Order: sequence, then structure tokens, then C-alpha cells
Amino acid sequence: MRLSRYFLPVARETPADAQIVSHRLMLRAGLIRQTAAGIYAWLPIGLRVLKQIEQVVREEQDRAGAVELLMPTLQSADLWRQSGRYDAYGPEMLRIRDRHDRDMLYGPTNEEMITALFRDSAKSYRDLPRILYHIQWKFRDEVRPRFGVMRGREFLMKDAYSFDLDEAGLRASYEAMFVAYLRTFARLGLTAVPVKAPTGPIGGDLSHEFHILADTGESALFYDAAIEDVSRDELLAADASTIARLTGLYAMEEEEHARIADCPVPAERLRSRRGIEVGHIFAFGTKYSAAMGLSVQTREGEQVHPQMGSYGIGVSRLVGAIVEASHDDNGIVWPEAVAPFRVGLVNMRVDDGSVTSAAEEIYGRLSDAGVATLYDDRDERGGAKFATMDLVGLPWQLIVGPKGLERGTVELKRRATGERDELSVESALARLTA
Ligand code: ATP
Ligand code: MG
Repeated sequence: MRLSRYFLPVARETPADAQIVSHRLMLRAGLIRQTAAGIYAWLPIGLRVLKQIEQVVREEQDRAGAVELLMPTLQSADLWRQSGRYDAYGPEMLRIRDRHDRDMLYGPTNEEMITALFRDSAKSYRDLPRILYHIQWKFRDEVRPRFGVMRGREFLMKDAYSFDLDEAGLRASYEAMFVAYLRTFARLGLTAVPVKAPTGPIGGDLSHEFHILADTGESALFYDAAIEDVSRDELLAADASTIARLTGLYAMEEEEHARIADCPVPAERLRSRRGIEVGHIFAFGTKYSAAMGLSVQTREGEQVHPQMGSYGIGVSRLVGAIVEASHDDNGIVWPEAVAPFRVGLVNMRVDDGSVTSAAEEIYGRLSDAGVATLYDDRDERGGAKFATMDLVGLPWQLIVGPKGLERGTVELKRRATGERDELSVESALARLTA
């Protein structure tokens, strides 16, 4: 992508109304613009990050055996009357009336819709187990939308729903999703702490939230320091024993922690940190299947309500969480897995024919090799170009200037460490296309 043709409105000044670093950097680096309270337009470079995250989430859902579909954002109130949640949901639900005076709503979540869809086609034990998911915009009219995409009103969520014949099946689906979550967050370069969540009136012990540790997180956590020792490789290879080990380690939100008389963790191992909730998994049994009349026939000919669970990931919130976890004084430092482009190619002198022809050739070769490259071909000062590249945080910067070219070299800078190497064009290309 040529920067001269791109839409990347970067800002040098710190936006006055942004309180946390990820919100400031996302505005400054031209990822998002607010269009109404808690509602954002995703600008081109922000959209690329959002899509990359969405893709990692999708791959891990698919790997766990979940099946993607797409449900609409607008839902009929009647659906929610069937579960009894239309009146119970409260002012977070955005209610809309259409021209025929029918009550509609912008979906805050999809338990009702998926239960109705499944009810209308699943008949017997052969239709189970199933895990269905979609990645779709949600709307919650939050009292206090804040911190940019962290707590928006319109936000992108992956929500999966599982249907099983019995509790053992539900437990297996829950574990498959748990593993998918550990792998997803590890692939995104994040350390996520699974925290046991209260299950409310339904009871049971199957609900966990996944939190990214960050000082700006909205949740206060208490956990066993041993959680921090779990390695990325271990998370990527996660199985039932990893879950057993992780869930065996103490981790609670403050409110729950305060209720526990004897904390099982010795004081020297108890950590207190803030966290950003990026995922929530929840086994709720027959709550919706019973309320909405979803039943299937068992092998023995009996009718039973499937055991269900739901599994959310805040895809748009993750963009903010990753920036919160990965930045420095100069800007964002994207992990490779979600970077909007892999390489930022800087032409230091567009008015110098030999520099420009070398830069153009490198750009062509990177593009041919399928390396996502943002090419700064604008007529700007070198200093401004470097500042922009650092701000937008691509993993690699490749700098082409007159002095280097005289010696036949270009400079390759790694954004995360600031390390610079002077290399021949061929070896720089070999490294970036490897
Ligand atoms: P929170 O406690 O942060 O309001 P929640 O418990 O209401 O979250 P869930 O209903 O479990 O959230 O939704 C699943 C995921 O969707 C959450 O883990 C979070 O990552 C994301 N999410 C929820 N509300 C928002 C929001 N207002 N803006 C962005 N992401 C959100
Ligand atoms: Mg909420």
C-alpha cells in the first residue's frame, strides 16, 4: 500500500478526551474515529488489525470444531419475549420500532436467536453435539461508554453457543472452548488469566472470564503468582490437563475474593492486579432450551432439553487490550500476528531518482512475495516519516536513503527493540520474505 494513496490520518497531539494510552494511540495512529458516544468508525489501518484478530479467533473456533454462521444485528422483540428477557434486560438494550409498529432491538447477544434457529431444525440426538458461532456487531447502551473501543456501545463480539445431550457433553464443549481461548490469546501475544466467575442463580461451577493484565483494566483481580509461570508454548499445546492446572490455581475478581474467608494462596504468592476482560465462557444448562421449547429425542426415544453454553470474545475490545499491553513512548508495537502491515518501507528522498527507483523495486518485490507492506512514498521529511512509522507500530521498518545506497545498503529496524541493521538490499529482502 502506498501511503500517498492511503487514508491514514495520524495526529501528533494527544487527544484531550482520551484517558488511557490505548485510546490515545488508537486515535493518534489513525485506527478509529468516534462518530457518536461509544460508536466508532474503523479507519483502514484499524480495520486491518480488527480483521487479523477476527481471523485468529475464527481459526481457533474452527479448530475446536465450532461452525461459523452469521446472524443479523437486528432482532425481533418477540424472540426475547419467549425467554422472558425482553423485560428483564433493562436500559442496556437498544429498542427500536419499525414502520409497522413492531418492537425490534439491536442485539446485545444471541442466546435467544440461536436457540430458536436450532429448535427449528434439530430433532434428535444425531443433531448433537454442535457448537455454532458468529462474529457480529453487538449493541449495548452502556451507561458510561469509555476508554475508546474497550467499552463501546457498538462493539464486535465472537459469540459461540454449544448444544449437548447431557452434562458430560456440555463439560466437553466447555473444555474445547476453554482450550480455544487459551490458544487464541497466546497466538495474539497476550497473557490471559482465567478467572472463576460467579454463575448467578443457575449455579454450577462452569463460568470463567479471561483477563489481560493491565493497569488500566476495569476489573480488580487477585490470583496465584504461579499463573504467570505458564508459558506460551504450554498454552499453545493446551489440553484438559492444562485446564485442570490453570483452574486449580486461585484467581478471583475482587468482589468474590472479598467474600472468601480463608484465601488458599499464601500471602507471598498472592498477586493483586487489574485486568481487562476479553472473554467469558459460561455453561448455563437448559435455561434457554427449556424456556424456548427446544428439545430433541434421545436414542431411547425420550424428549430432552439440550444442555447449552455460551462463549464470548470481545474482538474489538482486544484491539485496545493489545495496544495497552504492547506500546512504548513512541507509539504502538504490534505483535506480528495482528500487525496491519508487516513492513513499513521508508523512502527517505522521493526527489532523488536513484533512491526512488531502489525503493520502488523493493516495494514491488515485497508485494510479489506477499509481504504486507506500507510504503511511505510521500514527499515529507525523514523525521516525520520515522515518527509516523513508530506511531503506527509495524514490526519492521526498511529505510532506503541516499547515503546507504552509495554503499549498496538499506537499514532494517525492528520496532519492538529499536535494533537497526545495515544490510544489502538482497539480505534485507531475504529476511523479510523468510
Ligand atoms: P463487561 O463486564 O466488561 O461489561 P460483560 O460481562 O457484559 O462484560 P459478556 O456479556 O460476557 O460481557 O460479553 C462477552 C465479551 O464481550 C466480554 O468478555 C468483553 O470482552 C466483550 N464486551 C462486553 N461488553 C463490551 C463493550 N461494551 N465494549 C466492548 N466489548 C465488550
Ligand atoms: Mg457488560
